Formats: sequence, C-alpha cells, structure tokens
Amino acid sequence: ALDATWVRDHIRPIADYPQPGVTFRDITPLLGDAAAFGRAVDDLVTGFHDVEVSRVVGIESRGFILAAPVAYRLRAGFVPVRKAGKLPWAVAREEYELEYGSDKLEIHRDAIHPDEPILIVDDVLATGGTAEATAKLVEALGGRVVGIGVMIELEALGGRAKLANHRVESLTRY
Ligand code: IMP
Repeated sequence: ALDATWVRDHIRPIADYPQPGVTFRDITPLLGDAAAFGRAVDDLVTGFHDVEVSRVVGIESRGFILAAPVAYRLRAGFVPVRKAGKLPWAVAREEYELEYGSDKLEIHRDAIHPDEPILIVDDVLATGGTAEATAKLVEALGGRVVGIGVMIELEALGGRAKLANHRVESLTRY
C-alpha cells in the first residue's frame, strides 16, 4: 500500500460541510501547491507502476484534476465520466445510491474498447458508490478495470469492501 501521509499536511478538514456531522476533506490547498500537486500525481502513478494502462478514467469533477495529469504521465488516454446530461454523444448510464436518493453517471459509448486496461482515478473514496458505478460503466463497454486510485480514503465508510473485486490504491487513509 502507498503511504503518502505527507498529503494530510495539504488537506483542509471542513467541519459540518456539506451537512452537519460530516467532515469534508478539502483538497484545494494541495492542488494549489506546486510541489504537493506534482508529488501527489507522481505517487498515484507509482501506485500502479506494475500495470499497463490504455486509458485513465476521471470522475467528475475533482477526479478530472488528478486523472488528466496521471494519464499524461502514463502516456494513456483520458476519459471523462460525467453526471447525467453533460456528455454530448451516445452514452452508457449507471444509476447508483446515495445516502439520500440516487445519482447517475455517464460515459461515451465509444470511449473504451473491449479488453482495454483501464485505471479509474478520483480524489476521495468514501462509500465507494461512485467508484463502483464508474467501474460498471467501464465494464459495460468491455474494459478491464486494472485499478482504482484515489488520493484520500475515508476508511470508516467502507469503500474498499464495496470494491472488493478491484485493486484500490490510496495515498492516505483517514
Ligand atoms: P462515495 O461515492 O461515497 O465513495 O463518494 C465519493 C465521491 O464523493 C467522490 O467523487 C468525491 O469527490 C466525493 N467526496 C466524498 N467525500 C468527500 C470529501 O470529504 N472531500 C471531497 N470529496 C468528497
């Protein structure tokens, strides 16, 4: 497992956001720090040094910020997974449960080809619902999910267990 505990020095905890009782992990201090941002991208790449990756899937919207430079470093393609209604062409759609209600994610139907090795990247893994829905979209198009990389894993929310069939690498765990 990666152990980039230095990441915590650049994460700002926000109490009671977006709801009372929730501590939101704000990654914008890390993104704004040249050395920290570069190192976080490098460490995510290191976490998957042993696998071949054709494309990196980033999850809207903070996932885009990390997935794009990871894709660049791997000389892989970048594929956006977006909230429903944002992509202009034909899509595959996956609905997933939230604490209150549900949400839908979409991917362009031609974004991934059968058997391509795919890395999924997001900023934070919480319950794992978002990453699981994204993995299903990749698999619906015939892609192989070779890993899920996140900067922050909120262990108490059980995302890793929900993604038990996948390799999950996080830079730091709370
Ligand atoms: P999950 O589906 O419950 O795993 O939630 C993960 C998604 O919610 C990711 O796309 C994150 O960007 C977002 N998220 C959840 N908690 C936080 C947080 O504390 N900080 C930033 N993003 C979060």
